[in-house]
Amino acid sequence: MPLRSLRAAIPAGVLLEDEAARAPFLTDHRRLYQGRALAVALPRSTAEVSTLLAWCNAQRVGVVPQGGNTSYCGGATPDESGAQLVIGLQRLRRVRAVDAANLSMTVEAGCTLAEVQQAASAAERLFPLELGSAGSCQIGGNLATNAGGLNVLRFGMARALTLGVEAVLADGRVFSHLRALRKDNTGYDLTGLMVGSEGTLGIITAATLRLWPQLRCWATAFVAVADVAAAVTLLARLRAAVGERVNSYELLPRNAVELALRHIEGVANPLPGNHDWYVLCELSSFADEALNSMLEGALADASAVGLVQDAALCAGERQRAQLWRLRENVPEAQRRAGPSLKHDISVPIGALGDFVAAASAWVRQHVPSGTLVAYGHAGDGNLHFNISFPKETPAEFLAREEPLIRRAIHDLVAAHGGSFSAEHGIGRLKVAELERYASPVTLAMMREVKRSLDPHGIMNPGKLLAVADTLRETPAAS
Ligand SMILES: Cc1cc2nc3c(=O)[nH]c(=O)nc-3n(C[C@H](O)[C@H](O)[C@H](O)COP(=O)(O)OP(=O)(O)OC[C@H]3O[C@@H](n4cnc5c(N)ncnc54)[C@H](O)[C@@H]3O)c2cc1C
Repeated sequence: MPLRSLRAAIPAGVLLEDEAARAPFLTDHRRLYQGRALAVALPRSTAEVSTLLAWCNAQRVGVVPQGGNTSYCGGATPDESGAQLVIGLQRLRRVRAVDAANLSMTVEAGCTLAEVQQAASAAERLFPLELGSAGSCQIGGNLATNAGGLNVLRFGMARALTLGVEAVLADGRVFSHLRALRKDNTGYDLTGLMVGSEGTLGIITAATLRLWPQLRCWATAFVAVADVAAAVTLLARLRAAVGERVNSYELLPRNAVELALRHIEGVANPLPGNHDWYVLCELSSFADEALNSMLEGALADASAVGLVQDAALCAGERQRAQLWRLRENVPEAQRRAGPSLKHDISVPIGALGDFVAAASAWVRQHVPSGTLVAYGHAGDGNLHFNISFPKETPAEFLAREEPLIRRAIHDLVAAHGGSFSAEHGIGRLKVAELERYASPVTLAMMREVKRSLDPHGIMNPGKLLAVADTLRETPAAS
């Protein structure tokens, strides 16, 4: 019945009718969740998104916005009820405008991140967001999750890269705020509110993004250090020496490098011997500068005081690409090696060393069959604190142990002043974690915002906040 009413309410061609084509919309990237849906809609315009949401709001049908479906938290997957409507954004794919002089561009939500980067580059500008999923994830999804990635140290997360958004609210109204202004002090930051809202407040249909001049040169090094504390001290020294040119600072334990070497073709470690920790460090500049000698000089100074055990500077683009290939394929190598339990955590950078020492000791003592592989964007205090298990580990064992392990690690993160969700968001996976670690006042404010913008709780129910927390009234049966 609701499907017939939906068909009558929307233009032809919006619903994806082919069952096989619908299947990928019903499961998440990590295959943690398998949902069902009333239907999958692929609107072609903001107006069609508005029609869909107005109908869903009137009928009290839950809506699941979906971008590239690369979320690590099950945020874009419908529940098992078969009553929710998935709205995929891939047909909203126009680059509406690139304003090279204003260093801004306006793009529709369904453009992939790679397409946005290319459009900026075609105008000799840089859009600096960079994720391993760039070819598949969409800019709407990047904003909805406030994505981080490899260049946060210098350019910030997605929210810092966003000047304005166009979004359709739960009742179908269009919040049109595609302002290309650096200064706009006019009340609440509603654009900032939509960014990171994970599809629970509305559907982002377009965004105006900040651009930069193109980078002209890079210097990249692979550096061996004794421990995490040394890596943190080295970062401070590098920043003192070369300032904001430090673009990326990625920490890798020896076992992450070994995993990549074992499982990924075309990967090499440029440093001889074995070291416990490595840093992939990159400087970049908007001007033609002697970055290699700056980096070499800073590393030599650090080596003289015993901070650097060994270092290899990339001689050219090929070596640089090879090093990034190693770093970016650690998750894939880990996947090939066997199952793992993942934690996307952050702590203040100064606390990274103490946190890793305490959490590693806990894992050694309580999870003897697991191997800790803690790597990631250490320049942002963000680690993917993952525990790998042998291939033959029974799924039941992991399912049983996972809550205990997660609790212990996240409690340690909280004790170190950190966050249990550094960059991947809450989705469906971490709703209980948000309830545990957010303060009562924070949670109350989030619920009030949700209720005021989505009083019937139709937007991505059960994601970010529990369903029961978001409703003022029980939805009519759909
Ligand atoms: C190989 C790989 C590497 C990754 N690396 C990183 C990384 O370094 N940093 C990082 O932060 N993440 C990373 N991710 C996670 C993921 O790519 C990001 O979270 C990305 O921003 C999600 O975009 P998406 O289009 O795939 O969104 P989806 O997965 O489709 O959706 C994510 C959430 O956003 C909502 N949503 C999607 N589109 C819209 C919209 N237009 N309006 C409103 N809500 C919407 C969904 O409902 C869902 O809640 C990685 C993932 C992979 C697979």
